[in-house]
Amino acid sequence: MTFRLYNSLSDKKEDFVPLREGQVTLYVCGPTVYSDSHLGHAKTYVSFDVILRYLKYRGLKPFYVQNITDVGHLVGDADEGEDKLLKRAREVEQEPMAVAETYTTRHFQAMDQMGVIRPDICPRATGHIPEQLEAIEKLISSGLAYEINGSVYFDVSQDPKYGELSNRSFEEMQEGTRVEVRQEKRNPQDFALWKKADPGHLMRWRDPYSGWGYPGWHTECTVMSTRYLGDRFDIHGGGMDLKFPHHDCEISQARGLGKAFANYWMHNNMLTIEGQKMSKSTGNFVTLIDAFGQYDPLAVRYFIAASHYRSVVDYSENALKAAGTSLKRLHQTVRTLREKKPLDQKPSGKWFKEFRNRFESSMDDDFSTPQAFAALFDLNREVNSMLASEDPNPEAMADAEQLFSVLGGEVLGIIPEKIESEISDQRLNEVMQVMIELRNQFRQNKDFKGSDMIRDRLGDIGISLKDSKEGTQWE
Ligand code: ZN
Repeated sequence: MTFRLYNSLSDKKEDFVPLREGQVTLYVCGPTVYSDSHLGHAKTYVSFDVILRYLKYRGLKPFYVQNITDVGHLVGDADEGEDKLLKRAREVEQEPMAVAETYTTRHFQAMDQMGVIRPDICPRATGHIPEQLEAIEKLISSGLAYEINGSVYFDVSQDPKYGELSNRSFEEMQEGTRVEVRQEKRNPQDFALWKKADPGHLMRWRDPYSGWGYPGWHTECTVMSTRYLGDRFDIHGGGMDLKFPHHDCEISQARGLGKAFANYWMHNNMLTIEGQKMSKSTGNFVTLIDAFGQYDPLAVRYFIAASHYRSVVDYSENALKAAGTSLKRLHQTVRTLREKKPLDQKPSGKWFKEFRNRFESSMDDDFSTPQAFAALFDLNREVNSMLASEDPNPEAMADAEQLFSVLGGEVLGIIPEKIESEISDQRLNEVMQVMIELRNQFRQNKDFKGSDMIRDRLGDIGISLKDSKEGTQWE
């Protein structure tokens, strides 16, 4: 078994060789929990979910850590803005930790709806302050960081390899930092490891510098990934926008702490909305809760998973509708297979092998989901023509059903074990007319127990009946 993945650090596709045979350790940067997760989060976590599921399919036992950022991520991602959590907490007049709790829960609920498998551990930044302070102490004592006015900064001039992941020149780094030059830093590129907290700052911890402070954003990931996965682990992932400065900072800190860190870096590309960068300030922005109000969460998952994780995906009404239609086509075939296949028919693995091979060779090549989906749809066509024949082979049906369940279900996560059958509105109305007639019959016979039972049972499933002179209406 060999498969190749694109390592952002070397900018090349490389054979994946896990550190420990049969296992894979994976860290993906998690959300900053100050507002509802949006489509950009879906792009990241669905992409890595498919990767994780395929690693499992290939026989590797994954250990997956994804952090929760609940302190230290400042507005504007620079070292001077207000903490995103604190800002939100002030706006809604809540405890910052209550805000974090609310949005952590809502984030995972949205991910569950899309079938994203939860990480094995979701460590929180606020739960790992002593470890961060310990790392900061080490960086200071090895001369890589310095304390000034109660804050601590990483001295990037001490790490000649700083910026190696994003391949940024020194000039480019200066570009990005010019606006927020802070006098107390030695170089404008230096990044905060620890910030002095003003009196009254809600989220602060005891420190040996000015007495009270809070961590910078980049330290938590270096500390928490290595705490749970070891000083060296297999894959570190995240969105492309995190490459610089976040991931470059993580790498420099780990190097400074003498940790070998991640062997492979993987970055998913961005999601745009109708060709435009998603942005809260321009209103070009869709939360997952809003998206799910319009589309099946599995259609959103399908839409993201069907494009390559390293490609930009463009969200639009038409694209989502098309995804929903394609998904239904697959579901329809699988439903028919499950209905027609004799219950006791076991799969033999003899049929449709070429589709499994195509699927695997696509996924083995840096998780090329577009080709994998194409293989699945070619299988779909083949299976449908078989189902249209007079006497479909039971063994072939069992094999096809298994392929859909494994490749489409276990790996891509778009074919659930139970596919809800859809009743059209018209059909439902016809059924309801039968129920109403039945109830009227009971009432005419003065069997009120019977008529009440119909009304109550319908009420239990959310259908109410309204009687008027014109007859009975339902809603
Ligand atoms: Zn991170």
